[in-house]
Amino acid sequence: MKKLIVNEKCIGCGACIAIDSEHFDFEDNLSKVISNDNLESDALQNAIASCPMGAIEIIEEESSEN
Ligand code: SF4
Repeated sequence: MKKLIVNEKCIGCGACIAIDSEHFDFEDNLSKVISNDNLESDALQNAIASCPMGAIEIIEEESSEN
């Protein structure tokens, strides 16, 4: 299952939140992922491309079941 994350490089510039408010919002002055839906959206691709820190990643999350 794919999972959207903001990693530790985020500096809280707000670009991703301005571009894609479906997936990102501020928490403690940094960006926080608020949705894992619609990960193919153009807005999300733009946000990833616009992040100056390369802090937005889509990772393959391991299943919690073994
Ligand atoms: S664009 Fe990147 S650095 Fe800026 S708030 Fe979003 S994740 Fe953080």
